[in-house]
Amino acid sequence: MDSTIPIFDGHNDVLLRLLDKHSPAVEQLFLTGENEGQLDLPRALKGGFGGGMFAIFISSEDGPDDLDELMRGESYDVALPRMITAEKALPATLAMTAILLRIERQSGGRFKICRNAKEIRTCLASSVVGAVMHMEGAEPIDADFNSLEALYEVGLRSIGLVWSRPNIFGHGVPFRFPSTPDTGPGLTALGKDLVKVCNERRIMVDLSHLNEQGFWDVARLSNAPLIATHSNAHAICPHARNLTDAQLAAIRDSGGMIGINFATCFLRPDGQIDTDTGLDVLIRHLDHLIQQVGVDCIGFGSDFDGAKVPEAIRDVSGLGNLREALRARGFSEALMRQFCYENWIKVLERTWGS
Ligand code: ZN
Repeated sequence: MDSTIPIFDGHNDVLLRLLDKHSPAVEQLFLTGENEGQLDLPRALKGGFGGGMFAIFISSEDGPDDLDELMRGESYDVALPRMITAEKALPATLAMTAILLRIERQSGGRFKICRNAKEIRTCLASSVVGAVMHMEGAEPIDADFNSLEALYEVGLRSIGLVWSRPNIFGHGVPFRFPSTPDTGPGLTALGKDLVKVCNERRIMVDLSHLNEQGFWDVARLSNAPLIATHSNAHAICPHARNLTDAQLAAIRDSGGMIGINFATCFLRPDGQIDTDTGLDVLIRHLDHLIQQVGVDCIGFGSDFDGAKVPEAIRDVSGLGNLREALRARGFSEALMRQFCYENWIKVLERTWGS
């Protein structure tokens, strides 16, 4: 029997990577593997990737072209692109949704879109990759929430109100280092309405990419656990994208969740993009989070296909090295199961109600 502990993951951007190839049959490239990017099905199965949030993210027309290039030097502050309307965002949203649906249909039962936590459990128990349809930045949602109604029926179960770029719902946090996450105004009135609608429909609200004001707006309004799908500890890496100890405490008190992001710029104390970064740095974040929130609110949020990650992991097939680092740190098998998937499933059960 395979004793690999599967990893359920808070964030990946493979749908955007596939869309950006502008070629037909990208679903087959994902299913057969192509050794491009960081996530496809053969490498997922090899690495014991049990599934996770699959993000729909809308690219900006006005750049920045190479975010990585702009995030260099002792300090940096990348200008955020302009707002995108729902009208502009919808075609790409439907295209990425279609890619996800086709992957499932053509997968021969090896990949499933999960709409509740029970389905994720079934996938993990049978080595089927379980995908949660997630939106990173609510640009595709119109002010009347019509697209939300439709996309929910397709399978949408999680929404990050903003990516860093501002939208009609709120203001995000810039790619700024070093910086506090308190960088500007939070949610708009419409953003507060969206939180209420998500609560009513039991759609997960993702706090990653919100600035501190927006975070506290959601904390005040939401009746659901506070969840940051792919963010790290500001005390270790003082990037604007990371969470302060006060934010971590609020997440803990809500019975929420933090998915540790593998992006080296959010891991390293110097905020640099450098794949020559040891997993000891990731363990430092984990240790700090344990100190702040205990062991029940921590999981992983890789950012595969959206970020440069440590060479020791490199892509989804390298998750075994992460498990080894956890074992070397002395965590028990039971605790590893919590971090790798159980905490995620439990917080999704609390959020979705099943
Ligand atoms: Zn992100």
